[in-house]
Amino acid sequence: MFRSIRWRIAIPYGVLIVVTMLALGIYLSRFIRQTYIDNLEAKLATEARMVGDVLAPNLQAGGGEAHLDSQAKQWADTLNARVTVISPTGTVLGESQQASSTMPNHSDRPEVIAALSEGTGSSIRYSQTISMDMLYTAVRIDQGSQALAIVRLALPLEQVSASIASLQRILVVVTVLVTIVAVLMAMVIAGRITRPVVELTRTAWQIAASTQTEQTIQGDNDEISQLAHAFHSMSVQLSKQINDLTSERATLNAVMEKMTDGVLIVDSQGAVQLINPAAMRMFSITPESVIGKPLIEVVRHHQPVEMWQQCQVEGKAQRLDFEIGRRLSLQGIATSLSPALPGATLLLFQDLTRQRQTETIRRDFVSNVSHELRTPLAALKALTETLQTGALDDPLAARRFLEQIETEVDALSLMVNELLELSRIESGRVPLIIIPTHPKEIITPAVDRLRLQAERQGLSLSIECADDIPQVMADATRIQQVLVNLLHNAIKFTPSGGEVKVRVLEHEHEIYFTVEDNGIGIAGDDIPRIFERFYKVDRSRATSGTGLGLAIARHLVEAHGGRIWVESQLGKGSVFYFTIPKA
Ligand code: ADP
Repeated sequence: MFRSIRWRIAIPYGVLIVVTMLALGIYLSRFIRQTYIDNLEAKLATEARMVGDVLAPNLQAGGGEAHLDSQAKQWADTLNARVTVISPTGTVLGESQQASSTMPNHSDRPEVIAALSEGTGSSIRYSQTISMDMLYTAVRIDQGSQALAIVRLALPLEQVSASIASLQRILVVVTVLVTIVAVLMAMVIAGRITRPVVELTRTAWQIAASTQTEQTIQGDNDEISQLAHAFHSMSVQLSKQINDLTSERATLNAVMEKMTDGVLIVDSQGAVQLINPAAMRMFSITPESVIGKPLIEVVRHHQPVEMWQQCQVEGKAQRLDFEIGRRLSLQGIATSLSPALPGATLLLFQDLTRQRQTETIRRDFVSNVSHELRTPLAALKALTETLQTGALDDPLAARRFLEQIETEVDALSLMVNELLELSRIESGRVPLIIIPTHPKEIITPAVDRLRLQAERQGLSLSIECADDIPQVMADATRIQQVLVNLLHNAIKFTPSGGEVKVRVLEHEHEIYFTVEDNGIGIAGDDIPRIFERFYKVDRSRATSGTGLGLAIARHLVEAHGGRIWVESQLGKGSVFYFTIPKA
């Protein structure tokens, strides 16, 4: 408690006042005592002179001792003091207190010696005669140049002491009161001085506990208050800066979290300082702590480490394409972060897998298209050349060649049409009108379209669809196109005498459409690929097709939010499934 500034100011202040009051008290009591005694001495001297003047004639007359004793007694009663008359030789001539004859010679008394030599003398001492401190004042009574006698008056100092004691009591009381008032005032003043400091301390604690402080510090405009205000505005500034930093950090974290590119920051020693979730996913890093670990331990691939080393050596940005297994194609960029972060390097990884796949698909597509076009074009070229080299002259042969040319041109225009259709569907340029539709409205027209073809090939074509089957969300024309493609294949790949069935089944929130045949079936290896563009299982046996029908079907089904797949066994037949969501 006494360690606070308030007490540190108040206590010395109080001690100073007590000491000052004590010194003042001692000085005052001495001064008063002295003044009192001086006044008393002067009074006693005047009275002694008066007594001497009255007694002078008796002394001249050489009056007896008894006579002076009684006179001394009378004067003593009048003056209320002890009166002694002493001869210049020291013999006591008259005494108010006792018989002068019994008294010893007084020539050795200091006041007597002083009076004889200087006219007046005073002394304070303990009187054996009346057993108390006495003030003695003696005056010499002269006649002409001759000393007649010494008249001495004495008063007990009891009264003086009593006066001084009462004065001291007053002084003590005043000192105590003044000290209390002074200490209280010191505490109030110290309190006012220290209040801003207390506020300052509280604010500092609040900032330390990172609670927002909106209060302002009160106080006068003194130095401590100014310090407190400066401190307060500094704290406000500081918390604003902390807030700004926190929100900046949150933004940075959010960006890092949401970024699809992988980000790593590596220090000059190759230790990982920062990693974002995308980088963790790319390098299959478990979310345990990787901060501070060496780069090679974290990414476990030598290419990023070499790229970082190259960047360190050359001091230039480095770019590197590499693959992680067969899974991922990555492009890495290493950039030095100096001078903002001396020695640190930023490693950025972009996932180019999809891009690479798209490139591969595009390349394959171009080569497929050119390949598919080359066959009919080469046939056309051969036919026209044969016609030119003489076949024209043979009308029968010419007619046959022209029929073949027509077949090739039909095949070409079918392929071009299907390609156009596929590209329109893929690019979303075919607007779908998806409305609740009954499955029967979809399958009946499609089956009807192909019934004649099936009959011609000696195949039975049947439908299985419950009357109460729920409606589907579909663009009927487009789903009919899917069914026509599937039925067309089923008829094409089923030998005469076989059967083709179209079924509609309800399954949870979807409707299953199936096209089943007992034809040649598809080999297990081919199954995953038949929905690709231009994929034909056996090129030699299926010259009539383009290999685009199933690709178109898949796109249309997926555009409806459904799935398409096949179950098949070579030599036994195939079942094509596709689903469409219920209305
Ligand atoms: P295409 O125009 O050649 O029929 P598709 O994309 O429709 O092209 O079919 C791709 C390939 O899948 C066909 O060439 C064929 O080999 C195979 N295929 C499709 N449907 C059947 C089926 N029902 N039975 C056997 N093979 C089939």
